[in-house]
Amino acid sequence: MENKLRLDIVTPHGLVLSEDVDEITAAGTEGEFGVLPSHVPFITTLKIGILIYKKGNETGYVFVNSGYAEVSPDKVVILADSAERAEDIDVDRALAARKRAEERLAQAEKYDFARATAALERSTIRIQIAERKVAR
Ligand code: ATP
Repeated sequence: MENKLRLDIVTPHGLVLSEDVDEITAAGTEGEFGVLPSHVPFITTLKIGILIYKKGNETGYVFVNSGYAEVSPDKVVILADSAERAEDIDVDRALAARKRAEERLAQAEKYDFARATAALERSTIRIQIAERKVAR
């Protein structure tokens, strides 16, 4: 479709989103990046973060748990370990995950610090997205 980008977000749990959009912003490991239709092709790794897409007047927010983005002029494919659209995030589950991660970080000698830190990051960002406390 002219002047549109197909955005596919795929995880081992299934296809999370497949939409024709106008613009995408995502959290690359090298920093945030934006994609418009006709962008030059590139591949980058993604960190735990927020993907924002614009489609007409609509703005969509998606949690993305690490992975890859493959950008081509008319398509962006996100391959993520897990991902959820804002409306599909279970806030109570994320709150419980954050509490668990905080408790584990408080007893760092008993738990894997990096694992608990990543769990804290995932849950905190999920909560931010679900509560729409995202910048912009
Ligand atoms: P938890 O400890 O609650 O399982 P997690 O960060 O370890 O959280 P993931 O490994 O990222 O979970 O995801 C496992 C599956 O559960 C994925 O399908 C993911 O989309 C889903 N998931 C995880 N947390 C939530 C949430 N708060 N709301 C909706 N789906 C979630």
